[in-house]
Amino acid sequence: MEDCIFCKIINGDIPSYKVYEDDDVLAFLDITQVTPGHTLLIPKKHVADIFEYDADLATKVFAKLPELARAIRAINSDIKGLNIINNNGQVAYQSVFHSHIHLIPRYSSDDDMS
Ligand code: 5GP
Ligand code: ZN
Repeated sequence: MEDCIFCKIINGDIPSYKVYEDDDVLAFLDITQVTPGHTLLIPKKHVADIFEYDADLATKVFAKLPELARAIRAINSDIKGLNIINNNGQVAYQSVFHSHIHLIPRYSSDDDMS
C-alpha cells in the first residue's frame, strides 16, 4: 500500500533489521527499542488492524508467535520474559496503521518484584 511505512519495509524501500521472514510475515526490530530486542511481527498483506483480519490470515500471523518468542528468548540468557502487545486503533495507541504485534523482551534487570 502506498505511503505505508511497513509496506515500504516489506518491499525493501525502507531498511530494517530483519529477525524472521517467510511468505506470509516479516519480523524486524522496532526503531524505538523499549528493551533490547524489541521486535515487530507483521503480515506481508496490508491490513490496518485486527478488525481487518480473516481467520486464515490470523492463523498465518498469530501462530508464528510461540516460535518467534522462543527464538528471541534464545538470543540472550538474561531474557526472562516477554510482553506481547497489539494495539488496534488510535484510541488504543496504534500509531502505524499496518497491523503489527510487539514482542518486548524482559530482562532480569526489569524484575522489580524480587
Ligand atoms: P504502535 O504505536 O502503532 O503500536 O507501534 C508502532 C511502532 O512502529 C513503534 O514502536 C515505532 O517505534 C515503530 N516504527 C515506526 N516507524 C518505524 C520504522 O520506520 N522502522 C521500524 N523498524 N520501526 C518503526
Ligand atoms: Zn502496509
